[in-house]
Amino acid sequence: MRIMQHLSERLHLLEHHIAEMRAQSPLASAHVTLVAVSKGQSQESIRHLLAAGHRDFGENRVQEALEKWPSLKAEFPDIRLRLIGPLQTNKVREAVDLFDAIDTVDRPKLAEALAHEFARRGDTRPCMIQINTGEEPQKAGASPAEADALIRVCRIEWNLSVTGLMCVPPVDDLPSPHFALLRKIAKRHSLPELSMGMSSDMEEAIRFGATHVRIGTALFGVRC
Ligand SMILES: *Cc1c(COP(=O)(O)O)cnc(C)c1O
Repeated sequence: MRIMQHLSERLHLLEHHIAEMRAQSPLASAHVTLVAVSKGQSQESIRHLLAAGHRDFGENRVQEALEKWPSLKAEFPDIRLRLIGPLQTNKVREAVDLFDAIDTVDRPKLAEALAHEFARRGDTRPCMIQINTGEEPQKAGASPAEADALIRVCRIEWNLSVTGLMCVPPVDDLPSPHFALLRKIAKRHSLPELSMGMSSDMEEAIRFGATHVRIGTALFGVRC
């Protein structure tokens, strides 16, 4: 009971905070979705947020999500679950079965595999393209130099429903130049959505027009 109050309280505080940030920022999006990042969290914790009415969630591992989410989604059909971590082409079918949006399209091969899976099912999912704004070798995402070409391939060659761009700035950098860069690339392609900002940098992200902030720690507490 205490945990539950705790979680729903944090959710409401965060939503309030997001609304305040939006109101103060001229570039802010009219609507910012708080994506609750539930990786490493139990079904029980997730249920507390569901009970508080929250429906937007993100997971970064397909396998972990497959263990936690099918039963929850059967119970709450209006859940919107986003994949925010890397996707291997051999996991595309399972991912499309479970996730309502794929936010980490980062290479032509994956775009192709998704297109084939959507065609097979006669159904599609909104996708975001992940940009490695800091050009970190260990991080997923297309480099800024590859971004235009990848966005075109996804939209024109594979006819994916690309709604926006996603990024995770380097931990040691000031995040704002990365958010500004993501915004600039999205503008160039008239892409309306920007998934950027996590617990530590959501304020800057909202200031630069984030439409989705991905919040784990600030909501659930430190992951075990
Ligand atoms: C874990 C994760 C988050 C949430 O990070 P917090 O710092 O816990 O808010 C956001 N985005 C991605 C891609 C993640 O893997």
